[in-house]
Amino acid sequence: MTDHVPGFSTLAIHAGAKPDPTTGARVTPIYQTTSYVFEDVDHAASLFGLQAFGNIYTRINNPTQSVLEERVAALEGGTAALAVASGHAAQLLVFHTLLKPGDEFIASTKLYGGSINQFNNSFKNFGWNVVWADPSDIGAFERAVTPRTKAIFIESIANPGGLVTDIAGIAQVARRAGVPLIVDNTLASPYLCRPIEHGADIVVHSATKFLGGHGNSVGGVIVDGGTFDWSREGRYPMLSAPRPEYNGVVLADTFGNFAFAIACRVLGLRDLGPAISPFNAFLILTGIETLPLRMQRHSENALAVARYLAGHDKVSWVSYAGLETDANHQLQQRYAPKGAGAVFTFGLKGGYDAGIGLVKHVELFSHLANVGDTRSLIIHPASTTHRQLTDDQKTTAGAGPDVVRLSVGIEDVADIIADLEQALAKI
Ligand SMILES: *Cc1c(COP(=O)(O)O)cnc(C)c1O
Repeated sequence: MTDHVPGFSTLAIHAGAKPDPTTGARVTPIYQTTSYVFEDVDHAASLFGLQAFGNIYTRINNPTQSVLEERVAALEGGTAALAVASGHAAQLLVFHTLLKPGDEFIASTKLYGGSINQFNNSFKNFGWNVVWADPSDIGAFERAVTPRTKAIFIESIANPGGLVTDIAGIAQVARRAGVPLIVDNTLASPYLCRPIEHGADIVVHSATKFLGGHGNSVGGVIVDGGTFDWSREGRYPMLSAPRPEYNGVVLADTFGNFAFAIACRVLGLRDLGPAISPFNAFLILTGIETLPLRMQRHSENALAVARYLAGHDKVSWVSYAGLETDANHQLQQRYAPKGAGAVFTFGLKGGYDAGIGLVKHVELFSHLANVGDTRSLIIHPASTTHRQLTDDQKTTAGAGPDVVRLSVGIEDVADIIADLEQALAKI
């Protein structure tokens, strides 16, 4: 077995884990503790000085969390990972490590609505300025680069329309600009797409969605691709300048190709504090064991539902990259050939009222603001998540009055379609 490289499904179950050395427990325990006894005073000093790896305090690391981190790093093909309290916390720590006040980053216009809010509003309080670019036009990213640009942020499969982004094309823009490419891989999961193989330097996840997969825990993960040279021109001082609080250690020199993950932990997580609870780390870890099976079924069910809707006379359009006729189908074949995932949007000929009617009449689908649950989920963005926007803004964001978003679950697909059928008949 020594030279044998394990496959994805094996890693999803085993990576990072081994039987508990003290008790023999086969499943990774929930280490529900805040702190860890030092072996002696020298050991304590070396942990605090970053000269040795080990547990200090659960805001910074925890053994259950560590297994989750090793597992996601293995699945994404990264060098290391950091698990945190939520997907938004992951994004906060990534940008905290890369940007100073007055810096800029370029972000795709096709993102999760919460990320658009985070970038447009809260990040401005830190002096981090977002510049938006349309992912269907690579030139828009190229034109947005300035000397202050420090990063580019995209989603692999993008919310809400299930669009697929040209990761390799945008990675080339990032290379030429000398900045890292950050990919939010939440909707694809590493089972469908591995952005680092296409040129991403950093991957972020809302583990709340498909990694956890059961709609029971909020969490986030940062994966370090180990691909970026942080020492260039001193543009990333958190990594390339001596850290006074760690005796002048230069993180990029000391930790090499996993320095970014270390910086997010020992600077961002330590000081800003969004730690994941051991219990949530445990539930997400358990969820990941079935990730390959779930993503396969999610994608098969979503394709069948998209085909059904495309043939329905009350439906005006369906945006699902898995459909052969979809504008994104070629990108899907390149970046996510095993399937286009669970989440997509479609339009109702009856507009706003039909959208409201549909969410009212479904029975199996749950009307709520989440994706990536085992259960089938539905939302009408114009009356909920995007309600505060003007009609023009709604349409630009892919949340026009007629738009309905589904996250197709892993129930029997005949039941999912039957539920839509009876609800569509009532509008
Ligand atoms: C949900 C989501 C986030 C935010 O994650 P939280 O865990 O809710 O903080 C970020 N990106 C995408 C694509 C998401 O779906």
